[in-house]
Amino acid sequence: MLASRIRGGVHPAYRKELASGQPIETAPTPERVDIPLAQHLGVPATAKVARGDEVAPGDLIGEATKLICANVHSPVAGKVRAVVQKPLPGGRLCDYVEIQVDREATDAHIWERQDIDLDKIDQKWVAATLRGAGIVGMGGATFPTDVKFSPPPNASLDTLILNGAECEPYLSCDHRMMVEHAEELLHGMLLADAAFAFSRLVIAIEKNKPDAIAAFNAAIDALGLRNAARTPVEVIGLDVRYPQGAEKVLIKVVTGRTVPAGKLPFEVGVVVSNGQTLFALYEAAYFGKPLVDRVVTVSGEGIERPKNIRALIGTPVADLIQLCGGVDPATTKVIAGGPMTGTALPSLDYVVTKGLSGLLFLTQSEYPSESPCIRCGSCVEVCPMGLMPLKLAAYAKAGKFELAKATNLADCFECGSCAWACPANIQIVSWIKYAKNYIRVKGL
Ligand code: SF4
Ligand code: SF4
Repeated sequence: MLASRIRGGVHPAYRKELASGQPIETAPTPERVDIPLAQHLGVPATAKVARGDEVAPGDLIGEATKLICANVHSPVAGKVRAVVQKPLPGGRLCDYVEIQVDREATDAHIWERQDIDLDKIDQKWVAATLRGAGIVGMGGATFPTDVKFSPPPNASLDTLILNGAECEPYLSCDHRMMVEHAEELLHGMLLADAAFAFSRLVIAIEKNKPDAIAAFNAAIDALGLRNAARTPVEVIGLDVRYPQGAEKVLIKVVTGRTVPAGKLPFEVGVVVSNGQTLFALYEAAYFGKPLVDRVVTVSGEGIERPKNIRALIGTPVADLIQLCGGVDPATTKVIAGGPMTGTALPSLDYVVTKGLSGLLFLTQSEYPSESPCIRCGSCVEVCPMGLMPLKLAAYAKAGKFELAKATNLADCFECGSCAWACPANIQIVSWIKYAKNYIRVKGL
């Protein structure tokens, strides 16, 4: 089936050339890791360790005690220095487990491969594996993946989509994973297929990554997946247009189905998963390895040598900067994530987390300052949800939250297209997020 075109959307300068040609490099084991217990959507995990405790790689240090929550594991061998409260990039406080690392013992640890009989695994096994390993959506959403893979009994799922769009400018960590680990990602899809017996397995990739498309086609051949008796695996090339990779947009483009406002993809029979998330499922199932590392793109004109780096969760941002040769003093903005949906960092005192897809060091020319709205309508034109972004931002600025709510604020999925299209560089999404938070906190 051919992919259809998305409504609205923009063509931002992708700037992927800065890092996309850089093979994944593994960061050295840090001397110390600081691991937040709230790296996921939902309630924070509960600390299972205290100052002075010895930990080994894979030990549970934060336990999921609610449904929308995720386990947190130690990526290292070492000793717990403290459990302290510190801010997350968005400003919210959470417990961090600080560990003094035994680098020798950490580097000597081996995750042993184990055999899996795909005929013997089911949905419950996959969900339990995801839950046990603390796996969350690694495209940035950080929704606990076991919940996504545990639809209500009456739901009928027929399609799994590997989201390989990676449409955010600058980011190339998923791209590199697809090029370098296509077979492992396919194994992750096969595990999910063993659980749900999908009728379609779709790998959806923007056409600007022909090497990733080629890598998957080669891996499908190498694993003998073109056998007519198996669930077909399709590799679909998507038009290059932001926000092609937004979950609901991707489902519409790939299947023609519309996920109703406020509903989840399983309502239309679809599961969408980021590639690194499926890689984490593969590692958890075949190696018993919880989610303790990830690939991060470090890029922007402000970083000396842009790279894609596999780093342990809890690795200080300063370590990644050092590995990339340092920061240019002309850097005016540091963003965790991509430039469209990411969060500006007030300092560099942060660490690698499960949802950190990118770390961008942007200069003035890449991130210009704001001027008044000229009512050009560009933001309305590009909104894939058909919203009035200029009104939402204006209501939020004026504190008219009820009006913002009545103007369908909740339908905004914060893709950032409007802000990117705005010639006045108005931070429309920041205002939208502000209004949503205000409404949530005040219970409006
Ligand atoms: S209003 Fe929301 S959904 Fe529409 S373009 Fe802006 S961020 Fe995207
Ligand atoms: S794109 Fe920017 S300047 Fe144009 S109407 Fe929207 S908010 Fe105003």
